[in-house]
Amino acid sequence: MPTVTATFRFYEELNDFLARPLRARAFSCACAQCATTKHMIEALGVPHTEVELIVVNGESVGFDRVLQDGDRVAVYPKFEALDISPLLRVRERPLRTVRFVADAHLGGLAQLLRLAGFDTLYDNHFADDEIEALATEQARVVLTRDRELLKRRTITHGCYVRALKPQAQLREIVDRLDLAGSVHPFRLCLSCNAPLRRIDKTQALGRAPEGVLERHSQFVTCDVCRRVFWEGSHWRRMRTLIDSLVPEPRQALRTSPPS
Ligand SMILES: [Zn+2]
Repeated sequence: MPTVTATFRFYEELNDFLARPLRARAFSCACAQCATTKHMIEALGVPHTEVELIVVNGESVGFDRVLQDGDRVAVYPKFEALDISPLLRVRERPLRTVRFVADAHLGGLAQLLRLAGFDTLYDNHFADDEIEALATEQARVVLTRDRELLKRRTITHGCYVRALKPQAQLREIVDRLDLAGSVHPFRLCLSCNAPLRRIDKTQALGRAPEGVLERHSQFVTCDVCRRVFWEGSHWRRMRTLIDSLVPEPRQALRTSPPS
């Protein structure tokens, strides 16, 4: 049987998923007959959700490109500051509205995403099958630290979360998906993921402490758990956290030298 050998090179943080000897260099790899780019990339350990661009012999291709003997395959993650729009991305279009489903280990991150206004499903009893189904049926981005979950066939949009602490995880996701401009704090109930609704002071009577009613004029409520929220000190602390996510305007990567 004729063999197919292709040369692979993975870029930037995609190397973290590779076996150590294969990182940051070109290497040859025997491929199964009719293996696609997606098949080989995942066989080498990289979840397809982490890949943004595949270039074979200098031409951008999709996940379904069948590898041929002698192919040179370059695999790139999401570009932070480089415009690749003329090249074909492996995903035809981003999800129109960014919504998430977080795996059972990311409860802290799920709460912070809700706080930042992003619809995020989370339950610490979610099984992998449920996460896959929710992602597919409701067009949600899967958040996980389990790369095997991201290799599931029907999951098209996912993020492998590298950071370990919830605040750093939130920052990582906001950076990776360019969400700073979409942050909308206090839109969702942290417990229910349901929309918060503005109410006036009279509707808050009996549902918030007297002192709070005297000091505050703005109230919101969740129609699922019926709790009432106001701009207290907890709210202000959260506001500071959310504000810190919106980065300072980035310096352009390449600027012309001062003349
Ligand atoms: Zn609620």
